[in-house]
Amino acid sequence: MSKKPSKIKMLHIKPMLTLSFYNEYQKKILDEYKFDNAIRELTGFYETSNVNQFLRFEDFSFENKKNPQITGHLFMLKGLLAHYSTIDNFNKLNNLDAVLKVIENSPLKFHFVIFIYGDLKTFVFKYKFILLHKNSVEYNLNDYDDKIPNDEIKKIIEENEEKNKNVVNQDFYFADNDKKTIILKDFTSKINKIPDLINNCLFSNNNDKIETIVLEKTEGKYLSLFISEVKLKKISETFDNLKSSINELELFTTDLKQMFNPESIAENAVDLNINLMKWRMCPNLDTQLIKEKKYLLIGSGTLGCHVSRCLLGWGARHITMVDNGKVSYSNPVRQSLYNFKDSTRIEDNFKALIAAEKLKEIFPMADAKGYNLNIPLPGRTLIDDNAKQEYYKNLELLENLIKEHDIVFLLTDSRESRWYPTVIGKAYNKLVITAAIGFDSFLVMRHGNNENKLGCYFCTDIVTPTDTSGSRTLDQQCTISRPGVSMLCSGMALELAMSCLNSPLNKGNDDGDVPHQIRGNLIEFAVHQYRFNFNKNCVACSDNMMKEYKENREKFTLNVMNDPYYIEKTCGVHELISDIKIEETNEGDDF
Ligand SMILES: [Zn+2]
Repeated sequence: MSKKPSKIKMLHIKPMLTLSFYNEYQKKILDEYKFDNAIRELTGFYETSNVNQFLRFEDFSFENKKNPQITGHLFMLKGLLAHYSTIDNFNKLNNLDAVLKVIENSPLKFHFVIFIYGDLKTFVFKYKFILLHKNSVEYNLNDYDDKIPNDEIKKIIEENEEKNKNVVNQDFYFADNDKKTIILKDFTSKINKIPDLINNCLFSNNNDKIETIVLEKTEGKYLSLFISEVKLKKISETFDNLKSSINELELFTTDLKQMFNPESIAENAVDLNINLMKWRMCPNLDTQLIKEKKYLLIGSGTLGCHVSRCLLGWGARHITMVDNGKVSYSNPVRQSLYNFKDSTRIEDNFKALIAAEKLKEIFPMADAKGYNLNIPLPGRTLIDDNAKQEYYKNLELLENLIKEHDIVFLLTDSRESRWYPTVIGKAYNKLVITAAIGFDSFLVMRHGNNENKLGCYFCTDIVTPTDTSGSRTLDQQCTISRPGVSMLCSGMALELAMSCLNSPLNKGNDDGDVPHQIRGNLIEFAVHQYRFNFNKNCVACSDNMMKEYKENREKFTLNVMNDPYYIEKTCGVHELISDIKIEETNEGDDF
């Protein structure tokens, strides 16, 4: 005995546009539709689930033929795609009459229309979907049951199953020559639910003699609907329905920026790389912190180029390059951000600006900026008002940049150009990393801060930095070093910074195991670590210097330039060195 379902519920069909569909649609816009509105045939694949019924659209929905990739439990439904070239056209559904004309010419062929617009710059797609003959058939439902159909119908179903084993199923077929029984596949496992697609099938058949609809459900279940007084509406009524409901159609919006924008793809891929380090190697790595911190690179030469590239590798976003030089013909072979063409742009090839441009070319999501800035050098007498103005302007910019950033890398090629950034960095308690290279050796260190009281780059000597660059001979104006040394040094400097960021040091506690100073050389291929406290007479970071800089800034900034003994007197080494004859050394190394 069959058990009657308690209540029959109509399930509404919904469109499902897959990623492959959007991908193909974009290609069609670019290669075929271009600037025109377009009306094309489109195939939807009807599938059901327990909850919803979907008409699925794939990349091969645009092909006007069966796709061998699709087999099994899917129906093909023909419909139309109405593509709009502008959002304005889409909002007004401008070519509706043209769409209706296509349907009118083959009224039984098309089941649905998708009105769609795609913005290929923002990857946002808008569309509306309408099932054409949803309300075009009326009938009385006299009875229904869920018993297995009689042997004759069962045999027909089995034969059809065998015939359509490896192709897309027909949306419906008849069990008899009189076309009184129609069989429709429906994968809804719920026995008491029927798809609203039935009306479309009945209308497409253009047959008002149907008495039985057999729904083939999953798991060998069936539902037979016994109907009478089938009434098919005229196509003109369908159009009237369509026109009146068109403004009430639901608007679907799909934002695929994350999926299609190459910049977003690159960003996700970079972040994934960093996260893999975290997931696989160091679970405590704070990747978000690295991403959020702001990095200031003073010096955009060999070291600056390498460090900035390593920063990108670590997923850093905010990178500011500073330099006062231009890209020379000798630079590109060693300075990894520049190429020969940059050397030839004589008018505007400022290193820092080009470096920032290049970082964005490598990784468009990088927030890279460049500043062409002369770092004020202590001891350079301010000869006139112009020099004074220039000095204060540069100093203010330098101070602001250091204040705005979290980590400052000192990567210039002279000792004195590191002095002001060291003073300001200490005054604002920033993490300052110094990197310096000689011919076959290098030095990398982090400057001490208010908590750990470690020394700075200047703590180990008592020589006041003075302007030496002006008197340099040609061979002293650029650092002569083995090319690999700069890479070792830059890599070490960046890794030291990353270790600091991920150590308790960053949280203001203790130092953890992060090295303070690293010296390496290629004579023995050796690397050594050193650790020392800050020197109370340091010419850059001592308390007296900090006090003077913070409390008597005007006097400090002026005297630093014009009084050759001011720094020594302030930090208290003047007496110490006045009796010591310091030999002039000029070995080329800055450490
Ligand atoms: Zn110091």
